[in-house]
Amino acid sequence: MEIKKGIGVSPGVVISTAVVLDAEDLLIPRRQVETADVPAEIKRVEKALAESVADLTRLRKETAAKHGKEIGNIFDFHLGILRDKTTLKQLLTEIQTNQTTAEYAVSVVMRRFAANFLKMSDKYLSERVKDVYDVERRILRNLIGQKHKGLGQLKQDVIVIAHDLLPSQTAALDRAHVRGFATDVGGRTSHTAIVARAMGIPAVVGLGDITSEVSGGDTVIIDGNRGVLIINPDEDQLIEHREFERKLIRLETELAELRDLPAQTLDGHVVSLQANIEFPEEVRDATHRGAQGIGLYRTEFLYLASAQEPTEEDHYNSYVEAIRLLKGRPLVIRTLDLGADKYTQEKAANPERNPFLGDRSIRMCLHDIPMFKRQLRAIMRASVLGDVRIMFPMISTLMELRQAKMVLKDVTEELEDENQPFRQDIPIGIMIEVPSAALMANHFAREVNFFSIGTNDLIQYTLACDRTNEKVAGLFCPAHPAVLALIRDVIRAGVRNSISVSVCGEMAGEALYTLLLLGLGLTIFSMNGPDIPEVKKIIRSTTMAHAKQVARRVMSFDSERQVMHFLREETRKIIPEAF
Ligand code: PEP
Ligand code: MG
Repeated sequence: MEIKKGIGVSPGVVISTAVVLDAEDLLIPRRQVETADVPAEIKRVEKALAESVADLTRLRKETAAKHGKEIGNIFDFHLGILRDKTTLKQLLTEIQTNQTTAEYAVSVVMRRFAANFLKMSDKYLSERVKDVYDVERRILRNLIGQKHKGLGQLKQDVIVIAHDLLPSQTAALDRAHVRGFATDVGGRTSHTAIVARAMGIPAVVGLGDITSEVSGGDTVIIDGNRGVLIINPDEDQLIEHREFERKLIRLETELAELRDLPAQTLDGHVVSLQANIEFPEEVRDATHRGAQGIGLYRTEFLYLASAQEPTEEDHYNSYVEAIRLLKGRPLVIRTLDLGADKYTQEKAANPERNPFLGDRSIRMCLHDIPMFKRQLRAIMRASVLGDVRIMFPMISTLMELRQAKMVLKDVTEELEDENQPFRQDIPIGIMIEVPSAALMANHFAREVNFFSIGTNDLIQYTLACDRTNEKVAGLFCPAHPAVLALIRDVIRAGVRNSISVSVCGEMAGEALYTLLLLGLGLTIFSMNGPDIPEVKKIIRSTTMAHAKQVARRVMSFDSERQVMHFLREETRKIIPEAF
């Protein structure tokens, strides 16, 4: 047995048999064929293309039915390549002119496509190179007759081990049999991690070289809460984790009973627990777990999951769907937060040297006003259908906020000219996720209706620690006194200026920090849906007086270790089974 430490990105404990995805990688040697065999090779390639189209069409349909239309649309781009006439033409030319096997022709043509995409200056298009590789693998599997064993149609429970999962692979996982997954690379905000959380599959990422350490058929334990993977566990570890697995299931059942109860402390202080979503369909699960609204809708996933840049109507339809499912509960729509970790920089044509400090998020929107306006128009048009609020991410200067508001004003004037209704007094908020914004919170508070603290980025920028880099994951800590001081001051600035403040980073859903955030005066917690019940339980088991005492004590510490130790002890006093 071997214990590997990674980053737990989706909670839960599972014990199952491993399938290693990288073991399926196919090596295609160059092989010539006789002239007489060329027609047979052409037939083979045509058949493989048709089979691939059939596979993908089915997969697209199943995925859309299971996880919603947006996730299903991931496959549009793949289908587009397969159906494009030039794809077949190039394959035939390759086989006929160079007299190669169908496999070799596929490999050459797809690599050529990939190289062309990589050269594109449009970052969104250059990112699609990953999908080209995905298509290549699918055709090759059909050609070689080694049908992909189908992570969508497994016969038994498995844990998937991969270097990195492609977006389409993650979305196509068969929820009934894929019990968990683990990858070599990645951090909490990778595509894969976010989709895993949305689907409720326990996952650990950033495990280094796990694909070569685990063999298919090994028994593995994935502990998504602690970020641990155990290869071929011994009897004691199996017993311990089976017990932990049972405990979590029991706890979940017990917590589900809290769904309709208010998030109210024993001495009557009420807070609001809301959910973060990436796709409108997630609203259902979020409200089912007791979310009182959506505190963060990461709209950039509309871009990441689709082959083309979304139109105004695509935006609008997604917002209308979320509003419909929310039945009057609030919806905070965050404008596009693309760039940095939401592109694979290595695949981008002109990688920025410091993508997290580069042209991302609101900066990117202010550099592409037509794109920004398309989204703002859709938000404003949808604003009359429910309790919609608008939030700008990554604001670091007052000027940026003012510019964003000016673009919004332009948009409302356009809508007025077109006689399109919109909500005149739509609440406008900003994310506080850069230290400069946190330090100037008092100034910002006079120009917005609400703040939402994005601790994921705030921690990264305060501690100079890449949030997606597994090598520095140990430094990335919400409990660092510098981070806590910023959070405290932002909450204070909100109170002083009578605007609401929420935390929507991962910290809001971590039970360890609930007492502290409550004691600091936080009134809105926005988190992944599955985290809501546990946070609610802590709130309902304490008093505001106690939480304030905890916060005062924590703010006197000078190290994150002390903070975490103290918070663990205090939380265990009220919920002994926590952690
Ligand atoms: C954050 O930075 O804390 C946040 C909520 O935004 P995202 O994770 O999408 O960057
Ligand atoms: Mg952020």
